Order: sequence, then C-alpha cells, then structure tokens
Amino acid sequence: MALTQQREAGLEAARKYVDQVYETVQQRNPGESEFHQAVKEILDSLVPVFAKHSKYQEHGILERIVEPERMITFRVPWVDDQGKVQVNRGFRVQFNSAIGPYKGGLRFHPSVNASIIKFLGFEQIFKNSLTGQPIGGGKGGSDFDPKGKSDLEVMRFTQSFMTELSKYIGPDTDVPAGDIGVGAREIGYMFGQYKRLYGNETGVLTGKGLNYGGSLTRTEATGYGLVYFTNEMLASRGDSFVGKTVVVSGSGNVSIYAIEKAQQLGAKVVACSDSNGYVYDKNGINLATVKRLKEVERKRIKEYVNEHPTAEYVEGCQNIWSIPCDIALPCATQNEINEASAKLLVANGVKYVAEGANMPSTLEAIEVYLNNGVYFGPAKAANAGGVAVSALEMAQNSARLAWSFEEVDAKLKDIMRNIYRSSVNAAREYGYDDNLVVGSNIAGFLKVADAMIAHGVV
Ligand code: NDP
Repeated sequence: MALTQQREAGLEAARKYVDQVYETVQQRNPGESEFHQAVKEILDSLVPVFAKHSKYQEHGILERIVEPERMITFRVPWVDDQGKVQVNRGFRVQFNSAIGPYKGGLRFHPSVNASIIKFLGFEQIFKNSLTGQPIGGGKGGSDFDPKGKSDLEVMRFTQSFMTELSKYIGPDTDVPAGDIGVGAREIGYMFGQYKRLYGNETGVLTGKGLNYGGSLTRTEATGYGLVYFTNEMLASRGDSFVGKTVVVSGSGNVSIYAIEKAQQLGAKVVACSDSNGYVYDKNGINLATVKRLKEVERKRIKEYVNEHPTAEYVEGCQNIWSIPCDIALPCATQNEINEASAKLLVANGVKYVAEGANMPSTLEAIEVYLNNGVYFGPAKAANAGGVAVSALEMAQNSARLAWSFEEVDAKLKDIMRNIYRSSVNAAREYGYDDNLVVGSNIAGFLKVADAMIAHGVV
C-alpha cells in the first residue's frame, strides 16, 4: 500500500474506534446533551493521535477518560428569610486525577445539572493539563440561584453546601474554586464553614480573599489570560489589539477583566451583556461604571444607559453578535453563539474569536469559524488563566508565601504563551496547521494519557 493510502486507512480505523466510544458515552449518559457535546469535540480531534499511536487504544485510555472517577450528588437543605425550608441539589465530579489533585470551580446557577457539571469537569481535565501545572480535572456546583437572595440566605445555603462537600475535598485531593454565581462572597462563606469544621486548611479552596490566603491576580486571571492568549493569536499574524473593535459578552468576573486588559492594550470594547440583555456604547464601554454596577451594587446591566445616555440597551442577549467587530470574546455561558450568530459575526468581518466562557460556541458555530478563516481560540486553551493562577495560589499556600501582583501576572503571561505555543505545535505536528481546537485537545490529552499508562489500569 502507498504511504498515503496507509495513512488514510489508519485514520479511518481510528475514526471508527472513536465513534464507538462516543456511542457508548451517549448510551451510558442519556439526555446529557452538554456532556455529549464536550466529549464529541475532544474525541473528534483525537482521531489523528489514535491513528499514529496504537498504545492509547491498547491501554483503553479513551474508555477510561470519558468515565468520571467519581460523581457525588447530595441534598442541600437551608432556611430562607421567611423561615421556609428550601432544598437544592449539590454536585461534585472528580473526573480525572492522573496528573494531580482534582481542580475546578463551583457553579451556582438554576440550570446546573449532572450534564453541565460533567461537561465542565471533562473539559477541565485537558485545560488543566495544558497549563503545565500538576492538577487533575474536577467541577461542581448547585442549582441554587444566588440572584435576588439576601447575604444571609447565601450564607445559610453555602454553609449547608460546604458541610456536605467538605467530606470529599482537601488541599491534596480536590481543590474547588469559583465559577458562574460563585465569587468572593460565596468563597468567603464556604472557606469559613470549612475552617469551622476542619481548622485552617488554607489550600482547600482557591479564589480566596487576599487577607486569608488568596493570591494577587486571581480575580483578574481568567479575563487577563484570555486577552494574553488572544494577543498571541494576533501577534502570530503581525497584528495587535491597538485600534480593534471588540465585543465581549457577559459582565461578570471573566468579562470585566477581559474588557480591562483589552482596553489597556489599546482596543475599543463596544458592548457587554448580562442574562437579560446587552449594552452597545459606540464610544467604548466605561468599565468603571460596569464594575460598580456589577461588582458593588449587584445591579442589572441595563442601568448603564442611565449614566451613559449615548449608549443603547437591547433586551435579550443573542443579538449582541450582530454588532460588527474585529474580535469577539464570548465570556458569559455555554452555547451562547450558535451557527446563525457565527455566520453573522463572519458576515460583519470578525477576524478573531477567543472563548472566555466554557464551550460558548456550538459545534456548528466552530465549523463556521474554521471554514471562513476566522482565527479561533477555544475555551480550554484561551480561558485556562484562571485555573493556572489557582494552581499558583495553591503553591503560595503550601509555601506560606505571597507573591506580588507583578510576579503572578508575569507567570500568567508566560503560561498563556506556553499554552498557545504547545497548541500550535501539536496542531502542526498532526497536520492541522492553525487549528487550535485540534492542537489544544491533543496537547492536553497526551500528558494525561501518558500518566494514565504509567499508573497501570486504575
Ligand atoms: P459570573 O457569574 O461572574 O458572570 C457570568 C456572566 O454571564 C454574567 O454577566 C451573567 O449575567 C452572564 N450569564 C450567565 N448565564 C447567562 C446566560 N444564560 N445568558 C446570558 N448571559 C449569561 O461568572 P464568570 O465570569 O466567572 O464565568 C463566566 C464564564 O467563564 C463561564 O462559562 C465560566 O465557566 C467561565 N470560566 C470562568 C472562570 C473563572 O475564573 N471565573 C475560569 C474559566 C472559565 P447575569 O448576571 O444576568 O446572570
């Protein structure tokens, strides 16, 4: 057989194998569409790896990696301000510990269910591996909605949540952090409850306040890291943020610091949103107003136009992607850009899309970017800055040290550059130049897979 025929046959066999594993995942996890989507995206990228190296199939790596090591579900009872008993559901998935303790955030949002926690936990395995730090993949959360709750209600809920979760976590086993709906307030209450139960184990959570073991730059890390990663993408094409028009969705932790860094690098950010709608400010978003409204006053983004009458507020989020821009940074939630929105972005001339949120683009949207020459930075590479600095927080806690903002920021920049380079190199090695989806999935996978082989069948 000619060499190319041999290669084609190898790819076809690998494709068949990967499809079989994917079918089993669908059958074993019925109705979990977000988890299926995340698995499909990764498995499809790994076909060339299985075609080239038979050892991964021989060691059953794929069959093992799609099955969580452990999935914990628990009742979270608490009492609201009216004295009524409320019950939520808590989750923690401990997905893969081949390269280190489970690490991944906690999400409090009414949409949280087993499928969402598993998709996030699965992605986290590869993202954490890409950071170059010794951390495994985990994720957790609850269908509790902090929005509209009093501080006391949030405290009672988080204390109940942590009382159960605390049985399964620890500084060397599983280290949660924040995510949607879990910010400084929630982490503070959870840390307080853990400390009450087990003493001052500083390293059990990351994203802590600076006065009790937190790291400088952790608040900014995901948003800043996203912009550092995008800056690498731009630089590879002789481009920069200077003078670029940028649209950022969301107005939470990731969005705010992505806006801040993009503005510092000379871009004009013209829009941001929350789950009710978006603001378009052609003069450039005033970040001080957004920070005050969202971080201090916990208000809705529509209030922005009261202070900036030249800006427009539009109810509903989807149309934010109809605003013409050079760079789109989706930073709100999963599946916020569908095929139609991606086509609109392309028609309006977008050149770069980089994901701050986890899985914000549907598989169809990603196809649209890749088929239209949009340079695309997928979440597990582009938003890995948050977890990377969380790992730096763990290192500081273990060493009883606190590094300066500049020190952590410089390490973050380095890590994002390395993630970009290893994704580019892996894509090139397997014949998918410029495809950062394939590159980041392969680079993240190989390290975990090799560790799993070294450990034997466990
Ligand atoms: P926040 O809770 O701080 O902010 C989330 C933002 O997205 C809010 O503006 C929220 O609006 C908006 N939003 C949430 N759900 C929806 C929805 N269904 N439709 C439209 N807008 C929505 O969360 P983060 O900024 O921490 O997280 C944002 C994304 O980034 C998530 O996908 C998360 O998994 C990912 N991420 C976060 C990391 C971190 O370090 N925080 C690390 C890596 C990834 P509203 O206030 O109205 O709910």
